[in-house]
Amino acid sequence: LASSQASPGLYIVHIAAEMAPVAKVGGLGDVVTGLGKTLQKKGHLVEIILPKYDCMQYDGIYDLRALDVTVESYFDGKLFQNKIWVGTVEGLPVYFIEPHHPNKFFWRGQYYGEHDDFKRFSFFSRAALEFLLQAGKKPDIIHCHDWQTAFVAPLYWDLYAPKGLNSARICFTCHNFEYQGTASASELASCGLDAQELNRPDRMQDNTAHDSVNPVKGAIVFSNIVTTVSPTYAEEVRTAEGGKGLHSTLNSHSRKFMGILNGIDTDAWNPATDNFLKVQYSANDMQGKAENKAAMRRNLGLSSADDQRPLVGCITRLVPQKGVHLIKHAIYRTLEMGGQFVLLGSSPVLHIQREFEGIANQFQNHEHIRLILKYDESLSHAIYAASDMFIIPSIFEPCGLTQMIAMRYGSVPIARKTGGLNDSVFDVNEETIPNQIRNGFTFTTPDEQGINGALERAFNFYKNNKESWKQLVQKNMNIDFSWDSSASRYEELYAKSISRARAQASNN
Ligand code: ADP
Repeated sequence: LASSQASPGLYIVHIAAEMAPVAKVGGLGDVVTGLGKTLQKKGHLVEIILPKYDCMQYDGIYDLRALDVTVESYFDGKLFQNKIWVGTVEGLPVYFIEPHHPNKFFWRGQYYGEHDDFKRFSFFSRAALEFLLQAGKKPDIIHCHDWQTAFVAPLYWDLYAPKGLNSARICFTCHNFEYQGTASASELASCGLDAQELNRPDRMQDNTAHDSVNPVKGAIVFSNIVTTVSPTYAEEVRTAEGGKGLHSTLNSHSRKFMGILNGIDTDAWNPATDNFLKVQYSANDMQGKAENKAAMRRNLGLSSADDQRPLVGCITRLVPQKGVHLIKHAIYRTLEMGGQFVLLGSSPVLHIQREFEGIANQFQNHEHIRLILKYDESLSHAIYAASDMFIIPSIFEPCGLTQMIAMRYGSVPIARKTGGLNDSVFDVNEETIPNQIRNGFTFTTPDEQGINGALERAFNFYKNNKESWKQLVQKNMNIDFSWDSSASRYEELYAKSISRARAQASNN
């Protein structure tokens, strides 16, 4: 295990539970790859550490090979071997950790949702740091994400900096404060953290359940930089309503906390080069978009009788956060208004999955509605390309990527004004907003009336102002949603934190 080459830029290591396209559940996976690639292009050395899941898309990993050394890491009073694999994903070097633990932590056929997730990911967080230490790596920044790798922050300062892995500043990004990984305080000891020391109100103790520890809180307290994925969401989570119990912690650490809007991977999401599409197209050549719409209708068995009938798309995890009742309502309302609706979604919540299976069956052979209840990357690209409008009626939305992808594919977003949607979707009728940035239809109140109003305005615009609609679509396709400017914000935060540490060190 050789230490990484010196590079003119920073040496940044992401430790994460997801990475698109090989191990993706949601937006987190897209962010790790999109931010990583952009920072690499800017001249930084970027490496990723992931668990070696059995259910990854292995065909997206190039030159995957096992290193001929193993890394021994501590868990539950014993030492376990980890096999380390290395490969390249989207041009980024990735290390995959395969624990040789009898519980087969990442051999479960799914990424999350196991009874022992706390153990699985606290094990992984520790093994990742152990790997960095034993490999002699000296990163400038260790960037961890969400509760699954939040353990990295306390582990680093309590155990690994004293062992000599002390070159780094820790950045933690919370992609969704709904998921905090809270567990009984005694569970923390498994990965070697001192449960008693950490189960204190100013450390990892959960703010409501005092016999529990909260990994996200721990990462807020112990990291040098804390970010979330949009400026509006960063404001919302500092209030009692939005903070899911962590608003007071975020307020006491507000100096190191900020919201940076995610970008999208504009190479992966590019209608001009997208191999998943029937026909590629661009803002200057919109015929291709019409052909994708026709192909989708044929493939899904929807009526092609009226090619002017608007097609509304929705691609989402079906969880309460996403406003499932409003999605359901929008399906029926779209039909009443003479549109077509395609939903691609899947749900980890059994009763929601059942409910949508019922609706899917009801419309099984319907000429205007189709529900496809699974995860399907290829179909998602086809739906972005085929749809005229795209709904995102979220109750809360840390950033949301689908509104940006939709715009890049010429599908006009209809979104609730919350979190990152509020920072990226601007109503075409909102006169207080400069005309050049107006790009969609928004509503504020998360009820049927709210979404009806926005849907109706979108349908009227589509039907009655053909030329303006076309201009809106073309304008949206040309918006820069790349990671460039957001990655620069991260670069600035990293650099500031590093120079602060150097200044402190030279004062001591
Ligand atoms: P979240 O991270 O909360 O799920 P985001 O909007 O940040 O929501 O990211 C969602 C990402 O997952 C997008 O890239 C979207 O295209 C993708 N996605 C969601 N559901 C599906 C699905 N059923 N099939 C394919 N892709 C999906």
